[in-house]
Amino acid sequence: MEEGPNVRPGEPIGYRIRRSPRALNVRLRLSARDGLTVVVPKGFDLRRLPAIVEGKRDWIHSHLRRWSAAEAAPDREPVEPLPEILDLPALGESWCIEYRPTRTRRIGVLIDGPGRLAVYGTVQDPEACREALKRWLHLRAREELAPWLAQLARQHGFAFKEIHIRGQRTRWASCSSNGLISLSYKLLFLDRDTVRCILLHELCHTVFLDHSPRFWELLQRLEPRCRVIHKKMRDSWKQVPAWAEARDPD
Ligand SMILES: [Zn+2]
Repeated sequence: MEEGPNVRPGEPIGYRIRRSPRALNVRLRLSARDGLTVVVPKGFDLRRLPAIVEGKRDWIHSHLRRWSAAEAAPDREPVEPLPEILDLPALGESWCIEYRPTRTRRIGVLIDGPGRLAVYGTVQDPEACREALKRWLHLRAREELAPWLAQLARQHGFAFKEIHIRGQRTRWASCSSNGLISLSYKLLFLDRDTVRCILLHELCHTVFLDHSPRFWELLQRLEPRCRVIHKKMRDSWKQVPAWAEARDPD
């Protein structure tokens, strides 16, 4: 295997730089194969990078340790690496995730600064980390998608009874005959236009429960590009990272 970035105390950390017009913040990407890549927004002053990378030395180190431990145990199932970046296009957010072992027995996620999330607690357990991150997505979806849906309902004169956030494997959203709208937290991984269209779609179901021509007519009035967006959505599941899939049916 090729040598990864060198992170012995006092020695400089090697990394490659990638400029991204989409990036909102500086993001650190670590992979066992490519080592450390630093993604920087357009126009970012590169002289600031060494200090930022240096501040992440412990984080980089802990990942490299984990990988060398995985290599030392080749008989084990290949483990899916934990996410280091969480992009949520629906909210225009990009988070850099850090895993911080602490003495608490529980596991939690907190916002640790602009664009920075920390998973703390028993982070040695990758499954527990993924579940904690999914709970956090659930929370963000409730905080952001519920008011968004309510605002669209007000704006266009729809009424719904209740909103549920779920992690369905096969559906982005649904609407029941008694006005209960369910939204998947995985919507957070789609772009804003698509999410808006899905929210409007469900609101139109509070009037027409089917996909009849009059349903489409109503939706098209609110979002003239709805058919194009729906077509594009067939591939949208690929935007959901594997770890964010719900483990249990709910
Ligand atoms: Zn529908």
